[in-house]
Amino acid sequence: MIVAIDGPSGAGKSSVSVEVARELGFACLDTGAMYRSVAWQAVHDGIALDDAQRLGEIARTYEIAFAHEPGNPKPVGVSIGGVDVTQAIRTAEIDRAVSPVSAEPSVREALVAQQQRIGRSGDYVVEGRDIGTVVFPEAPVKVFLTASNEARAQRRVLQNEQRGVGSTDFEEVLADIIRRDEYDSSRAASPLRPADDAVHIDSSDMTIEEVIAQICDLVRERS
Ligand code: C5P
Repeated sequence: MIVAIDGPSGAGKSSVSVEVARELGFACLDTGAMYRSVAWQAVHDGIALDDAQRLGEIARTYEIAFAHEPGNPKPVGVSIGGVDVTQAIRTAEIDRAVSPVSAEPSVREALVAQQQRIGRSGDYVVEGRDIGTVVFPEAPVKVFLTASNEARAQRRVLQNEQRGVGSTDFEEVLADIIRRDEYDSSRAASPLRPADDAVHIDSSDMTIEEVIAQICDLVRERS
């Protein structure tokens, strides 16, 4: 079974997905980490971020792999082409590079095929931007998770502090979140938008536990 969780950056998708997966005994798939890995490889190889052909080649040829620990739904690492990029994909440089890379249709085509293959191998909570609309339109539970710009920036700053990577400047993070939302929502290929049958949850004034409980209730109702 697939639980699709879409929404803009910093809405809490990652933390919520992991905890929902833990509670339900599902695995989780962070599709943003896959787009970030391709962006990292492009930057590493010195490829122009508008070079559609070479970006597509990276997505088609480099293997993206998640490292798992038994009993933990959250992967402990991610690698591309055998190089561990768990931390490297969270820098401000990759925050900036990932939008143009993910807007490239050939990159999306290659990654969506991988995501569908992974998701069909078991029960997954899958988080991203186009999971309910494109990757798993048949998912029985689709959530569109949002929060105010300020709440999202605040959470991202806290997350970056905890991870020890990425910007911890509120204004810089807020500007990046707004810029990425605009880019992700206005691109031609699979723009960020809720599926028609998605349940909208605004988490601005909710605790993470409340969001998790609401999603787990939905899953139990529909399974
Ligand atoms: O979720 P995260 O913020 O790590 O995603 C990074 C970027 O990857 C997003 O800003 C978006 O451009 C892209 N993305 C996407 N489709 C997805 C997941 C992420 O386009 N399913």
